Amino acid sequence: MRRPLVVGNWKMNGSRSSSIELAGNIAKKFSDGEGRVECAVCPPDVFLADVAGTLAGDGVGLGAQNVSQYEKGAYTGDVSAEMLAEFGCTYVLVGHSERRAYYGESSSQVSAKFVAAQGKGLVPILCVGETLAERQSGKAFEVIAEQLGAVVEAAGLDALAAAVLAYEPVWAIGTGEVASPAQAQEVLAFIRASLGEKADVVRLLYGGSVNADNAAQLFEQKDIDGALVGGASLQAEQFMAICQMAET
Ligand code: PEP
Repeated sequence: MRRPLVVGNWKMNGSRSSSIELAGNIAKKFSDGEGRVECAVCPPDVFLADVAGTLAGDGVGLGAQNVSQYEKGAYTGDVSAEMLAEFGCTYVLVGHSERRAYYGESSSQVSAKFVAAQGKGLVPILCVGETLAERQSGKAFEVIAEQLGAVVEAAGLDALAAAVLAYEPVWAIGTGEVASPAQAQEVLAFIRASLGEKADVVRLLYGGSVNADNAAQLFEQKDIDGALVGGASLQAEQFMAICQMAET
């Protein structure tokens, strides 16, 4: 059985005090409702220590939104996998479409980040997904295969299967336009089929405008084991409602 996982990506939002408050509200609700689902949040790096302290012992996991592909040295502004691990992170997002699009991260750079994260014991949450133009021109599967293939080439299939994979169609992120459950399932089934013999144990998430109104239908799909949630993860009630829906 794959344990459901719901991850909140807070992006570049909030202040120190609002992050502590949000983490505290999530932790309180999570420990109120002990369950099978695993929840984690990815705050901005500068709030990791505060959020880690607030979550301590409450069972909510911690992740980061990005990681350097380098181990250490003269890489101004970067944060290494070892640093994230020291601050209590279990997870780190790699290949989020905002990093690919706004910072020009190529699939080979994403793969190097993936390897760096796993090298220090972090679990990468590898994000893959197509743009609207790519979907409309029938290239969605090709794009996703290329994004996965780059990681397999750099790290191997077993390493990919040790990660969490998130299908995040670029056209659904932050747009309010969620993929239909059938669209999400179709791509996630394709992703699972490419994972070799460990396919059945790998957790696959859907991300893109998930909220408390559409999550339940998505979670009914066979290959959707949880969600990567952006906007709706900034409200504790809504985020926890989504987590509860993933229980079933
Ligand atoms: C995301 O940033 O990974 C995301 C899915 O955002 P949103 O839920 O806001 O679409």
